[in-house]
Amino acid sequence: MCAAALPCSDATIVGAAEGQAPIAAASADFPIAADARLAGDAKQTRFVLDLDKTIQFRAFALADPYRVVVDIPQVSFQLPAGTGSAGRGLVKAFRYGLVMPGGSRLVFDLTGPARIANSYVLEAANGQPPRLVLELEEVDRTTFVQSLSADSRPELRPAIADAAAVASAPVEAAAPSRPDAAPDSRPVIVIDPGHGGIDNGTQSGSESEKNLVLGFGLALRDRIEKSGKYRVVMTRTDDTFIPLADRVKIARNQSAALFVSIHADALPRHEGDAQGATIYTLSDRASDAEAERLAEVENKADAIGGVNLTEEPTDVADILIDLAQRETRTFSNRFARLLMGEMKTTVRMHKHPLKSAGFRVLKAPDVPSVLIELGYVSNKGDLEHLVSESWRSRTVGSMAQAIDAFFAKRLATAGPAN
Ligand SMILES: [Zn+2]
Repeated sequence: MCAAALPCSDATIVGAAEGQAPIAAASADFPIAADARLAGDAKQTRFVLDLDKTIQFRAFALADPYRVVVDIPQVSFQLPAGTGSAGRGLVKAFRYGLVMPGGSRLVFDLTGPARIANSYVLEAANGQPPRLVLELEEVDRTTFVQSLSADSRPELRPAIADAAAVASAPVEAAAPSRPDAAPDSRPVIVIDPGHGGIDNGTQSGSESEKNLVLGFGLALRDRIEKSGKYRVVMTRTDDTFIPLADRVKIARNQSAALFVSIHADALPRHEGDAQGATIYTLSDRASDAEAERLAEVENKADAIGGVNLTEEPTDVADILIDLAQRETRTFSNRFARLLMGEMKTTVRMHKHPLKSAGFRVLKAPDVPSVLIELGYVSNKGDLEHLVSESWRSRTVGSMAQAIDAFFAKRLATAGPAN
């Protein structure tokens, strides 16, 4: 997986040879962001990030929706709670977090088209810490679009990254097969904890969806791996942002036999209460209004993470659901029904537990895929379940049963005796 020019696994080898010290030292060494503030008005807005050392950065604007993205090396964000949720001037809100090992990102949602008039890092001076400063200026749509083509062809991956940390980029982490390893013919199951890094998913108090579903995904992996019958690949194992298309790509590159995306939903306060787990499959028309709303929310992950949607490759994202996918859909639906059958005996299910909608993460044309909303973080009872170890263990157990049943049937129909 390593390009020859990159110092790929060298960093890991050095780390292993010298014990854990270099890695621990490196993680303790991340620059610290201690405060962030906005100033100005709807014509000119300034953003300032207080740091404990100067850093490199790359700033660029994105259209549809209007955003400004600032890629920086991995930073330890120690900002006051709620930072970024309230905007000012040209900034509606902003987020920050990890987008890859070694790379953090700030994403600003803009109220309209704006250009980066100025951006720089200041050394500590006059009792002020080192600062990253971004100055935005209102422009019209035409100027905005022109500035995009002139100065920025943003890449999906941050340009500013610690060389050592690049060695464990997410897609690579998801490809555990070494060239010298014996071929592994076991079915591959991809577990996809939703969101991550800069994208928190839904939030309830201190609990964010990205952490709940990561914990669940890892527990599910451990349970499934125990049988030895499957090879499990995670789309993420830590708090990193993974674009939706990359999640699908991981499943396809691994020739996965099953893709399971894990999420937790929330209802907007004015929409009342809902509870229980729901299992979603892909369809071009949503099965109901709630499924449509949810797919819309989940599909926003890339906009939240600062992915350039206008440049997204369309090969997977826009594939029409046609006859070629009929078999995949049949398998997806079969697994969804098996899963519901197993889960309903142990887990509280939504009153309509099987639904479908246009989830981008389910669009691999050749990998049976389901998305599970484990429950609603907006519902008190569900939230209690979601953070409960015993609930998780029971739920993971029922899902593992469904997976066994699914593959027992697949192997029976596709086996050599056939
Ligand atoms: Zn989600």
